[in-house]
Amino acid sequence: MKGFQEQEVTSVIEIDRKVCKGCDSCKSFCPADAIQGKYGAVHSIDSEKCISCGQCLVNCPFGAPKDKVDVVDKVIEQLKNKKITVVGTMAPSVRVAIGEEFGMEPGSLVTEKLYGALKQAGFKILDTNFTADQTIMEEGMELIAKIRHFALGEPSEHHLGPLPQFTSCCPAWVRYAELNYPELLPNMSSAKSPMMMAGALGKTYGAKEVWKVNPEDMFMVGIMPCTAKKFEASRPEFTSAARYWQTQGRSGSYPDIDVVLTTRDLARLFKKLNIDFKSVPEFTDQDNPLAQYSGAGTIFGNTGGVMEAALRTAYFVITGKELDVLEFQPVRGLKGVKEASVTMKDVKTGKEVTLKVAVAHGIKTNVKPLLDEAKAGKSPYHFIEVMNCPGGCVNGGGQPINPMGTSW
Ligand code: SF4
Repeated sequence: MKGFQEQEVTSVIEIDRKVCKGCDSCKSFCPADAIQGKYGAVHSIDSEKCISCGQCLVNCPFGAPKDKVDVVDKVIEQLKNKKITVVGTMAPSVRVAIGEEFGMEPGSLVTEKLYGALKQAGFKILDTNFTADQTIMEEGMELIAKIRHFALGEPSEHHLGPLPQFTSCCPAWVRYAELNYPELLPNMSSAKSPMMMAGALGKTYGAKEVWKVNPEDMFMVGIMPCTAKKFEASRPEFTSAARYWQTQGRSGSYPDIDVVLTTRDLARLFKKLNIDFKSVPEFTDQDNPLAQYSGAGTIFGNTGGVMEAALRTAYFVITGKELDVLEFQPVRGLKGVKEASVTMKDVKTGKEVTLKVAVAHGIKTNVKPLLDEAKAGKSPYHFIEVMNCPGGCVNGGGQPINPMGTSW
């Protein structure tokens, strides 16, 4: 089966000319300076600059920017096809937002209801929290190798990217770096995002061991708070499942993630299937090995969550002990940037190192000074978490739209 997003999407967002009033609100929220048009005139998006984060979409007072990748009907078609196993992988931030689309209090945590509604719709589940744990292990081990080599002076046989290491799970941030700070790409963690790990794992291990289906009979759906995830899924690099199945004598294209639904898309899908989210029976999928996760995977959706989770792993491996409390301090003069330092004693050598880490969210306002510092080779940090959206994925461009606007 071919994925519906097999073509790389350059920009997921477009502005509806008939709705735009030229008020410039979108410009003030766009982190990539991708909006064109004078005040009072109809605006448009420069797709060469757009990072698909959807911040213009959730903040326009007139609803002019639109998500142009609508796959809701395609997913319903797959769900109705009895030959196809449709697997949904849902991010942490979806479960605190989907209830809002059905009249529940904003911020209600509805994990079991979401599992129940997905089951009723016909999805199998690979919780993205499960692969957030894998991402933490990968990013954490990568950081450990760099700390041991660069900070503790241990030899390394591997090619290691430079410090500071940047997190790589936000596709809008990755795109922004590609377009605006290509010098910093070697600093990017080589770990895939949790969604793309879910795609690779689901179409290989999941197909063989959990659902026992052929990969051509599987359809992987990312369920995300984020419009940029639609762009990420379409990137041509993500061919892990196809490469694996080639070694097993199968030559299909097998996209790791076939399509992405945002939280808003998922709400529309439930409504089209007449699933009454509020009254749907709760479900926990306890026997599914791909629906197990730690608390670390859960905090991925908040700013600071990725970094804290990876740092805990690094601390444990280097010192042999659990990290008690990680205290972030706001960095003076850089609103929206937090930093922390942790001193660790290497259990192997007895040497000490003090790790400095920073967390920044909101590329437009907070991240650029950190990037300029790193580009100039003057960054005091070992590890920097970057999330495009202010506050992290909970305020992503695919989340329910607050008619009062956001407070950012
Ligand atoms: Fe998407 Fe989260 Fe990045 Fe926003 S912060 S663009 S929601 S991954």
